[in-house]
Amino acid sequence: MVAVRAKTLPLLTGLLLLTACSGGGGAPAPSPAAAPSSSVTSVASSPAASSSTPPSSSSAPPPVRPGKVVVLDAGHNGGNASHPAEINRKVPAGRGQTKPCNTTGTSTDGGYPEHAFTFAVTQEVGNALAAKGFKVVYTRSNDSGVGPCVDRRAEIGNDANADAVVSIHADGSTSASAHGFHVAYSSPPLNAAQGDPSLRLARTMRDGLKGDGFATSTYIGSAGLSPRADLAGLNLSTRPAVLVECGNMRNSAEAEQMSSAAGRAHYAKAIAAAIEAYLAS
Ligand code: ZN
Repeated sequence: MVAVRAKTLPLLTGLLLLTACSGGGGAPAPSPAAAPSSSVTSVASSPAASSSTPPSSSSAPPPVRPGKVVVLDAGHNGGNASHPAEINRKVPAGRGQTKPCNTTGTSTDGGYPEHAFTFAVTQEVGNALAAKGFKVVYTRSNDSGVGPCVDRRAEIGNDANADAVVSIHADGSTSASAHGFHVAYSSPPLNAAQGDPSLRLARTMRDGLKGDGFATSTYIGSAGLSPRADLAGLNLSTRPAVLVECGNMRNSAEAEQMSSAAGRAHYAKAIAAAIEAYLAS
């Protein structure tokens, strides 16, 4: 539940936000002018990654990987809360629906914001994958901009012809005892990629996180999986795509883990390994 602190959200929006931290908001929308530096697509843009991952065969060749493309989508953005008009603008969300461009995301009771968590974890996941020779594309390259809108995020994955698209979020259930991660995927599928490939990616992600010691959600989905028809980024994807809700930021134990560098590294390690496992299968 993300945009809980947003000012006055329409009733419909409020209802949609009940189920997930926002699921990355919504849907597509042309973000022409509204595409500030935040909605930038960067290829292996993190410092470590860019310096160590020239996907070419020039100098010291990186571990050769099959040339697979991974699109990593860090939920929300640091400037969303201060730009309500841009963020609340309705964009296509798939299945004939519209949704707000994006939401602010949630935060821990201690004030650590979801957008910072998702950005940090995503960068670590990207660095790990880039170091293994995968091409990594990010839907946003900083944690201070606005958006991009959910539909644009889906487009980035589609345009990159991604072999796997992984959105990273953290939830904000008002129940402090609720905890655990879940992996959302589009259901019923709207295209072939949303069928078996996305389900396989979701299961591989679930198995990876679980195998690395993370508990499955006690309050959403079943056995760590959550079929969803209302998440724009998934609805609009034509590539295998999932959305990982890493846990509940309002649960004290998970909040502590998410707020620490070691905890974030743990999430990143498990997520990167799961993506690699999926791409290798
Ligand atoms: Zn979120």
